[in-house]
Amino acid sequence: MIPISSVKLPESSISHAIATLQSGQLAQGELVSALEGHIAETVGAKHAIAVSSGTAALSAAIRSLLLPPGSEVVTTPFTFVATVNACLLAGLSVRFADISLDDFNLDPDSAEQAIGPQTRVLLPVHLYGQMADMQNLSEIARRRDLQLVEDAAQSFQAHIAGQAAGTWGMGCFSLYATKNITSGEGGFITTSDGNRAAWLQAYRNQGMVTRYNYEMIGENLRMTDFAAALVFSQIAAYESNIAIRERNARTLIEGLADIGWLRLPKVMTRRRHVWHQFTVLLAEEAPITRDAFASLLAERGIGSGIYYPRLLGSYLHISSHPRVHVGFTPRAFQASQSCLSLPVHSGVSENETEQIIDAIRDIARKV
Ligand SMILES: *Cc1c(COP(=O)(O)O)cnc(C)c1O
Repeated sequence: MIPISSVKLPESSISHAIATLQSGQLAQGELVSALEGHIAETVGAKHAIAVSSGTAALSAAIRSLLLPPGSEVVTTPFTFVATVNACLLAGLSVRFADISLDDFNLDPDSAEQAIGPQTRVLLPVHLYGQMADMQNLSEIARRRDLQLVEDAAQSFQAHIAGQAAGTWGMGCFSLYATKNITSGEGGFITTSDGNRAAWLQAYRNQGMVTRYNYEMIGENLRMTDFAAALVFSQIAAYESNIAIRERNARTLIEGLADIGWLRLPKVMTRRRHVWHQFTVLLAEEAPITRDAFASLLAERGIGSGIYYPRLLGSYLHISSHPRVHVGFTPRAFQASQSCLSLPVHSGVSENETEQIIDAIRDIARKV
C-alpha cells in the first residue's frame, strides 16, 4: 500500500533529539530560542514564537489581537476544526465565507461580502500547501481596517511572488506529525510586530515576563527542547523534501491530464505550492462516486484521504453556536463532497507515482 502520509525523520533529527535527552534539558530552553531565530529567518518575519501545537498557535495569535468579545472573524468553512475552535474559545464570533475551487482557499470576493459591522479579523487558511490569494485578501484587510491572521499549518515556505506564508499577517504554523515538518506535536507563530511577539512570549508561559513577574493571565503553551531538536535538520532538508513533492505532483499532473472528470490541482500564478496534499476534485460528470473511486484505488494498493469530508458549519455544535454564522458556501460544499487527496509526500518514489497514475488510468478505462 502506498500510504497517504508517512513520517520519516532524518537520522540527524533523531541523534539531535537523543543528545537533548542526554543533556537533561527537557523543557523549553536554549534550543527552543535557537529554533525560533532559525524559523524567523527562514520565513522572513522578525519574530517566531514556538508553542505546543498549531491549535495553540492559532489560539494565542487570535488572543494577542486583544479584541473585545464578540468581535467577528471571517474565515473558510473548508478547513480543519482547529481554525474555528481557536476563534470560539477566545470569545470571538465566526462568519463563514465561500472558497475558490481553483485553490480551495478563501475567495476574496466572498470574504469581502461577508464583512459586517462587527468584523475585525480575516483568517484565510493556506490549504494543502498553497497560499490563499493574499494579494487581494491583504488589500481588503487594509481597506476595511481588519487584522490578518494566516492559518499556515499546511504551508511552511509556500509563498506568493517571493513573500512567504506567515509574513502577510500573523502566521500560525503546525508541527503535527503529518505536516511537512514535524516534532510530533508543536507549532509556532510568526510576526514582525515586536509588541505582539513580547505578548505571545509571556502568554505561552503563564503571563510571566521575567522570573515570577506575572503581568497578564497566561497559559502553558511551551514547546520542549526535545521537540525543537527534532525540527532543525528538517528545516535544513526542507527544500529537498519539497523538490520531491514537486516532482511527484508534476508527474501526477502530466499523467492524469486527459482524464476529463478529474480536476487536477492548479498552481496559481506567482504562487509557490509546497504540496502538503495533492488534491483532486471529481467533476459532477464523474462516472463514479468518490467513495467508489477511493475503494478502487485501495484495491490497487493506493492510499487516499478526504480533507475534509464535511464543512465545519455542518456540525451541530458549530451550526447551533450563538456566535457562528454559517452562511451559504456552495463551492466549499462541492469541495467537501468531491475532493480526494492522493499520495504526494517525499516517501513516494517515481516508480510509485507511476503506479498511482496507472491505477487511475485503469480505473478510468473500466468505469
Ligand atoms: C494541523 C492543522 C491545524 C492544527 O494544528 P495542530 O498542531 O494539530 O494543533 C490547524 N489548521 C490546519 C489547517 C491544520 O491543517
